[in-house]
Amino acid sequence: MVDIPKQARAVVIGGGVSGCSVAYHLAKAGWTDVVLLERKRLTSGTTWHAAGLIGQLRGSANMTRLAKYSADLYVRLEAETGVATGMRQVGSISVALTRERHEELLRQATVARIFDVEVHEISPSEAKAKYPHLNIDGVVGAVALPLDGQCDPANIAMALAKGARMKGAKIVEGALVTKVTTADGRTTGVDYILNGEPGHIAADVVVNCGGMWGRDLAAQNGVTLPLHACEHFYLVTEPVAGIAPDLPVLRVPDECAYYKQDAGKMMLGAFEPKAKPWGMDGIRKDFEFDTLPEDWDHFMPILEMATNRMPLFETAGIHTFFNGPESFTPDDRYYLGEAPEVKGYWTAAGYNSIGIVSSGGAGQALAHWITEGEPPFDLWEVDIRRAQPFQKNRRYLKERVSETLGLLYADHFPYRQVETARGVRRSPIHDHLAARGAVFGEVAGWERANWFADEGQEREYRYSWKRQNWFENQKAEHLAVRGGVGLFDMTSFGKIRVEGRDAMAFLNRVCSAQMDVAPGRIVYTMFLNRNGGIEADLTVTRLSETAYLLVVPGATLQRNLAWLRAHLGDDFAVITDVTAGESVLCVMGPKARDLLSSVSPDDFSNAAHPFGTAREIEIGMGLARAHRVTYVGELGWELYVSADQTAHVFEALMEAGGDHGLKLCGLHALDSCRIEKAYRHWGHDITDEDHVLEAGLGFTVSRKKADFTGREAVLRKEEAGLTRRMLQFRLKAPGPLLFHNEAIVRDGRIVGPVTSGAYGHFLGGAVGMGYVPCAGESEDEVLASRYEIEVAGVRHEALASLAPMHDPKSERVRM
Ligand SMILES: Cc1cc2nc3c(=O)[nH]c(=O)nc-3n(C[C@H](O)[C@H](O)[C@H](O)COP(=O)(O)OP(=O)(O)OC[C@H]3O[C@@H](n4cnc5c(N)ncnc54)[C@H](O)[C@@H]3O)c2cc1C
Repeated sequence: MVDIPKQARAVVIGGGVSGCSVAYHLAKAGWTDVVLLERKRLTSGTTWHAAGLIGQLRGSANMTRLAKYSADLYVRLEAETGVATGMRQVGSISVALTRERHEELLRQATVARIFDVEVHEISPSEAKAKYPHLNIDGVVGAVALPLDGQCDPANIAMALAKGARMKGAKIVEGALVTKVTTADGRTTGVDYILNGEPGHIAADVVVNCGGMWGRDLAAQNGVTLPLHACEHFYLVTEPVAGIAPDLPVLRVPDECAYYKQDAGKMMLGAFEPKAKPWGMDGIRKDFEFDTLPEDWDHFMPILEMATNRMPLFETAGIHTFFNGPESFTPDDRYYLGEAPEVKGYWTAAGYNSIGIVSSGGAGQALAHWITEGEPPFDLWEVDIRRAQPFQKNRRYLKERVSETLGLLYADHFPYRQVETARGVRRSPIHDHLAARGAVFGEVAGWERANWFADEGQEREYRYSWKRQNWFENQKAEHLAVRGGVGLFDMTSFGKIRVEGRDAMAFLNRVCSAQMDVAPGRIVYTMFLNRNGGIEADLTVTRLSETAYLLVVPGATLQRNLAWLRAHLGDDFAVITDVTAGESVLCVMGPKARDLLSSVSPDDFSNAAHPFGTAREIEIGMGLARAHRVTYVGELGWELYVSADQTAHVFEALMEAGGDHGLKLCGLHALDSCRIEKAYRHWGHDITDEDHVLEAGLGFTVSRKKADFTGREAVLRKEEAGLTRRMLQFRLKAPGPLLFHNEAIVRDGRIVGPVTSGAYGHFLGGAVGMGYVPCAGESEDEVLASRYEIEVAGVRHEALASLAPMHDPKSERVRM
């Protein structure tokens, strides 16, 4: 008889490495009253057959932080639990076969250095010395991480499970969760079946760690957890003479391959560019420690390249061809956090083949989030609230994951766009833009014009770490905005209507700025958390006494809606997503007034339509609401046009635009303009871990309002002083580029990453932003330092400024 409690503080569903890590870290955080339910046996889903690579080098600063935590944890886990984890820090080598890949490796090494992960740039011959079996023909360069390692994945999970038990958690095998129960929009527990008998555990917190089963389990409660399994392959040779037991893990991403020595055998794993989705008809009920059929044809291109790269494969016998399913997500990032649809429903799933190395850190971060009510640091990259409801669609998922598996080893060029499952969300003028040369990118399912190709120019991205093929197009668009007038389609903005008797009082509680303004006023504001961190930055327009329109980035809409709903309390207000109802056409630049005056009888003078106000205008033969705001740092209006009239308004603008030099502009030009003006971008420059005052956005905080979330944290920081500050940088040399994650070097020492960067076509050099430490220092002292930015290992001198380098007094915005 298994003794299962009727009540628990938290129930974790799934006994793979993810669930075991969450249970371990919850128990470690003092929540000893935790139950983990596994439908079969621990590790019997995907975890048991992982290759066990533990690589700390990840694409971003915080993901590197989490992977480093995992590696450190796995080293000490054996001593703590007595379970042999097989964790050995044999190190790793990643080799580049192209100059572009080499630059990527060097850039990642810079990110690693920001977080004190030991990394060495090594030459091809040094790589050969460390890895004698490697054929270095065509190898351009490499990096080595001596503290990377390899482990026995199943035993890592077992050790975490044992550690959880030692701290009081209960782990039950053979218990299938049939349903997460809810009432009034929050979880109340789980129903399960054990040995054919139904049971129920009451719990306020339920964590879905169900791996590839997780999506359908979540869907029962209307929770969006978009993931889909793919077949994932490796093979293992017979024992090969002469393989050293401490051979590092080797990655050759340009040949989609990794190599691991295992008890004298060699393992070759693949991240092929076009993967095989699996499980379209569901997953067999009795699936347990299962494998999928071999597919030599599919694997052969990888094996052929491997035979050249590692000649021992020519003669070594093949012991095992392994094929097992793993879950992949539309953007190749896993899901962590509380689902926006149901309170108390948490997730840690969709690991895209890096679940072993990720789960240690992810489990720790999630446990902190659950027990403390907030994440330990910015986790937006993997936050479940980035998932879009439409992404539940299984045909979409199947198409997309065929691409995402390979993305792990693809070149991670800046501005790289996904190629599959495109075109789901489109602006009403999508075809108009396409006909005029638009080259689209995708965010949150939205097709957005990123740049406009010239007549006869190829409409494709040619990716590079240097200037890409659209550099001159972006320049022309950027300079049109600075000197003439440009038109951007920003229909992908998330639009939220908040209305009702208490709308003003409610928004005054969640927003940092004063919301009790006259109808027609537009307010730039933040949602702050209790630490003064920025949960959202947005504009709020008061439409009437009782109605407001909140405009947020398209990618953060679900997060912002969830924040509003979680904070509504007893206030009488209705929160509605009205994104699809209105398009947004932004007319920006010093000639914006002239252009609008030629298509509308309304008065666009400063007196009639000052900055920060919105009003209805006639335009063409239709209507729009013109908002006088800007995200590019110029005179301009955002036109909110109902979806049905959008094409008409666009045509009217284009027709009149010829006389004013109107230029269609894309998102890349928007980005370069806003970075020149040092406008922050949520998710890059400002996140929930960045204090509003340190972000330089104190002007959005009302000191007069009595009560709003984050107020105390603002007052405390004012009293204590800033410990870091956001600066804007411009490289002195006009050549090098900044994207993000380059290292800011202050007086010779790395102090943090560039949070966003672009080419400042008006300023004449790459511009970026980022935080520098400043405890106890005046502004002048901070600026007196010598700044450099490290790009792919090379340091470039930079100018630094607290005020925006473009139009510091915002005179152009108010002209
Ligand atoms: C070939 C291959 C090689 C890999 N190599 C590596 C590597 O080198 N490094 C790395 O980091 N990662 C690697 N991975 C990825 C890694 O294995 C996975 O990311 C990780 O195991 C996922 O763990 P999980 O806990 O999310 O899922 P799973 O291990 O699948 O666990 C989910 C568990 O939930 C249980 N469950 C589901 N539904 C219910 C329910 N309703 N009630 C109760 N229980 C339920 C399942 O039975 C299962 O045990 C590899 C994967 C493959 C396929």
